[in-house]
Amino acid sequence: VKSPSKPTQHLTINTKRLYADFQALANIGKTLTGGISRLALSNEDLEARAWFANQIEDAGLFVRDDEVGNLSGILFSANRDAKTLLIGSHLDTVPNGGAYDGAIGVLAGLEILRTLKEADVALPFHLEVINFTDEEGWWQSFFGSMGLAGLLDTEQQRNERQDNGAFRAALYRAGIRPAEVDRARRDPETLLGYLELHIEQGESLQQAQCDIGVVTRVVGRSTYTFTFYGEATHAATTIMDKRRDALQGAAVFITQMHGLTQDEFPDAFVNCGNVHVQPGTFNVVPSEVSLRVECRHEDEEALANFESRIVRLAQECAAQYRLSVSSQRIIHRDVALMDDRLTQRFVDMCEQAGYRYQKMVSFAGHDAQILSKITPSAMIFIPSHEGISHNPREFTEWRDIEKGTDLLLKTVLSLAETS
Ligand SMILES: [Zn+2]
Repeated sequence: VKSPSKPTQHLTINTKRLYADFQALANIGKTLTGGISRLALSNEDLEARAWFANQIEDAGLFVRDDEVGNLSGILFSANRDAKTLLIGSHLDTVPNGGAYDGAIGVLAGLEILRTLKEADVALPFHLEVINFTDEEGWWQSFFGSMGLAGLLDTEQQRNERQDNGAFRAALYRAGIRPAEVDRARRDPETLLGYLELHIEQGESLQQAQCDIGVVTRVVGRSTYTFTFYGEATHAATTIMDKRRDALQGAAVFITQMHGLTQDEFPDAFVNCGNVHVQPGTFNVVPSEVSLRVECRHEDEEALANFESRIVRLAQECAAQYRLSVSSQRIIHRDVALMDDRLTQRFVDMCEQAGYRYQKMVSFAGHDAQILSKITPSAMIFIPSHEGISHNPREFTEWRDIEKGTDLLLKTVLSLAETS
């Protein structure tokens, strides 16, 4: 009888097998323009999960799914009381998105588990690759990771974009009972940590000619709805000075908001991408305009200042045009700090393997920011060609995927040696 081997840094992933997985998965939900549509809980998403479950089973790993639809493969430690190290990301996509966003992180995790199983490596922790439900937010952003973290509440289960009945129906169809989602919560005491590999979705790694981005934090984000109220009057007979034109006030607000961001908060990001005008007729003065504003900042305090400055600006612009304005914060996510020790482990492994890396902030949201609330979490990026993402043209060089997966494997082995 062969006894399980010690963790070794000389293991390598089976890159052909990983590539075959990547191609098979990229065929699920393929669109006519070469993109991928695997919206959370859609037929395509369910097909991808079934495919993933088969891969887990074929590898001789344990299949697990939870009450929010997260789907995992587990390689158990011989120590039944061991904690679990999670490696994850997501298989769902935005409409007509790319083949790399999320998928690479899940496939890399699966390949690492298979590699360790084949080599019969003795692990001091259970190793679990996990696909989180609806990271992209077709129904509700981070539904799966929030469920696992025990952060879902009834408020958040109300869905912004579609009516809640459809969401509930989609959940039922996927075998998820809304009343049971609380049970998906994992006790932080049972977790060792969380690691995620993801494409950068920006171009700083490519520009810096780096192989790896070691993420130190994920930016905080707040979303507001502003509604400007004026008066709908005849566009020909109301004299210009007397008008209470809600759209004028809103338009000035949007312009000045961008100016203010540039002048006073150069590290912040702001966006207004939708404006609804009522009554919405060319010959009636606009009476009501509502718009959504999203702001992001890597510093929690600066984000709070930025938000209050924008709210004040909306009031100033409303006053200038004899309007009233209401502001409502719809979503807030804290700045998420990655774990220093795990982050340092990624850095050490980059140096050992000779990979060029840089530390960086993530401006996009990821499951790691949710997991970081309950367990030490860390994240690495690999380069995205020209920074294009959420697009059929999303592309990452295969050698970069290999390096990222190898780094993840080396990090898991290093943790196995020392925990
Ligand atoms: Zn993603």
